[in-house]
Amino acid sequence: MTTAENQMRFMFALRSHGVTDPRVLTAMEQIDRGEFVKEGLFSDRSYDDMPLPIACGQTISQPSVVGLMTQALNVGPRDKVLEIGTGSGYQAAILSQLARRVYTIERHKRLVQEAKELFQRLDLHNITTLHGDGSRGLPEQAPFDRIIVTAAAEDPPGPLLAQLREGGIMVVPVGQSDAVQSLIKVTRTADGFEYDELLAVRFVPLLEGLGRD
Ligand code: SAH
Repeated sequence: MTTAENQMRFMFALRSHGVTDPRVLTAMEQIDRGEFVKEGLFSDRSYDDMPLPIACGQTISQPSVVGLMTQALNVGPRDKVLEIGTGSGYQAAILSQLARRVYTIERHKRLVQEAKELFQRLDLHNITTLHGDGSRGLPEQAPFDRIIVTAAAEDPPGPLLAQLREGGIMVVPVGQSDAVQSLIKVTRTADGFEYDELLAVRFVPLLEGLGRD
């Protein structure tokens, strides 16, 4: 459980990194990050503004980066959102407070199972969690109003661009996985795509195919 002091520090870190959208701040106040960091070595760091290890050698992102990505995505209450890289489920849980429906895809079966159980326990019923290679997107539910990729690709994946509706926004970290990457906001317009570079980030790589566990 969060203590009042942890909560205050957590919210302060978000604001001081530029997360100012009241809807995003409210969503992040409501979703307890401690639930997504497994009991153990790192559970007392749940409310620190840092990425933390989760199962399958993956990470739960830094809260201020989650906040800035969510803010850049500018999600509306009627939006259908696609997330690639469920990981702990934390980002999807925040999106579930802002969107009509969230589809989230993860290549590690174990992470899919754990996230599903957690969403159930937390009564987050507008999230569909799927096991698969998210770099192909989810053609059967396309087009999406918003797409968020929480693993770094060398370029925004073509299938995801194709599944973004006109006027839609995609946020994706771009660059080599062992170097600093740029968070890019892609907006689909009537005649193509607009690209804005937002900030330097560091994510695990977007990999093809399924994970071993
Ligand atoms: N959004 C997560 C952070 C995820 S870390 C959270 O809030 O906790 C990135 C995740 O992307 C990892 O779990 C990794 O397994 C997953 N991933 C990497 N490539 C993928 C792909 N092609 N399809 C689906 N998931 C992928």
